[in-house]
Amino acid sequence: MLLSLWTVFVCSAKLAKVSAIHGWTAMKHSSKTRERDKFVIMAVVRQFGPLSRVNIHELTGIRPTTISFLVRELLDEGKLLETGLSNNPTGRKQILLRINPQQGFLVGIDYDAESVIVSTMDLTPSVKNTIQKAAKLDGGIKGLTQQLVSLTRKAIGQQDRESGPLLGIGIADPGLIDSHEGVSLLSSQIEFWRDVPLKKIFEPEFGAPFLLENGTRARVVAERALQSHETAQEMVYLEYGTGIGLGVISGGRLLRGHSEGAGEFGHTHLIENGPPCKCGSFGCLEAIVAAPALAARAKKAITEGSGSQILELSDGDPEQITGWTVLKAAKLGDKLAATLMEDLGKYLGMALANAVNLFNPSLVVLDQRLQLAGQGILDQIQRAVRRLALRHLTENLSFRFSALGGQAGVLGVGLLLLDRHFEIPSLKAPKFLIQSPPSHFSKRSFIQQDLLSSSGDTQSTRLDS
Ligand SMILES: [Zn+2]
Repeated sequence: MLLSLWTVFVCSAKLAKVSAIHGWTAMKHSSKTRERDKFVIMAVVRQFGPLSRVNIHELTGIRPTTISFLVRELLDEGKLLETGLSNNPTGRKQILLRINPQQGFLVGIDYDAESVIVSTMDLTPSVKNTIQKAAKLDGGIKGLTQQLVSLTRKAIGQQDRESGPLLGIGIADPGLIDSHEGVSLLSSQIEFWRDVPLKKIFEPEFGAPFLLENGTRARVVAERALQSHETAQEMVYLEYGTGIGLGVISGGRLLRGHSEGAGEFGHTHLIENGPPCKCGSFGCLEAIVAAPALAARAKKAITEGSGSQILELSDGDPEQITGWTVLKAAKLGDKLAATLMEDLGKYLGMALANAVNLFNPSLVVLDQRLQLAGQGILDQIQRAVRRLALRHLTENLSFRFSALGGQAGVLGVGLLLLDRHFEIPSLKAPKFLIQSPPSHFSKRSFIQQDLLSSSGDTQSTRLDS
């Protein structure tokens, strides 16, 4: 009995890790043990599958007869699938089970000042369809929210009957958010974008669970789960575009920060009295080398007479120059672009060296868009980091470009939606933990009680220290 309880405890701890990684604290509540056991079975198959019924018993401690009954129900409901036989040379071969990725679908939305991407995904998550449009910025908050809603409606309309029900909509947001209220607070990239109640707009419109996450953080979740196969406990992801952000996984958990502002890397201060930034400060990383800053410097040099392939890549029109044309020209060996790349490598390297000293990651993943400039930019950034960060922290540090590219944001919110969908309900919590106690019950500080009960001379020790 003790062993069985211990197995359940260890397993629950392992499974709780799935949602703990991404920091979700809200728990669903269910008093029905059997209903909860179904969630446990789904979660264990999602985490370790394909699994046989015997494996599920070994990992969860749930009784074999209960597992047989509940697995039958889950198969009938289309939530699990039988997927061949176990490869067991000594014993009887057992039927393996896996999650049915077609039991429903998810919608992921990723937007910034340049574009809106809306993708539908199965529960792998794997992208099925994507719609991408230039972001509509001429209609203010109303125009852009209408675009997000209408593209979502269009993406959902493209699903066939076999896709199953819509299980959730997630948005990867370019700025500061309040994920609990589902409000996009502000984006330094989109000037008019303030306090947009996305959850209040999306939930009644589509009648599905809604999730809002910062885009850079969504991308590091996807990079970790799908590219490092969840082995990286300490990693950072550098997002580079109109803005610059840093997604941080520390101790295997996504770093969100006290007010969900962790990772506003673009506004780290690098130059005293440097160029003005959209955030109101000066000398921020973003103001020095984000894509619009590169474009502005290229434009200035070209209009002052510098010859450059950047102009050819922009159809001969300096107004068409973007950060991306500068990166592409660098790959072609253009001299002006190479000078700009030196600054890009230097300042991104400088900022990342600080991040390496702060978080001591084992892996730095760079936005795939930087690869437009070729392998050279990764080498430049890597050299700068190794020169500036503490040597001990760079000895086992790897660098690579993201392989997920433009899909990282929607996949990240897809993974977060799935964590919620497969979250195991807690057993019903006692009333005193849910509601505020009546005023005649005075709340005792547990910290104080621990100190008093730890030893008889606690008081004197504290006074002496
Ligand atoms: Zn700034």
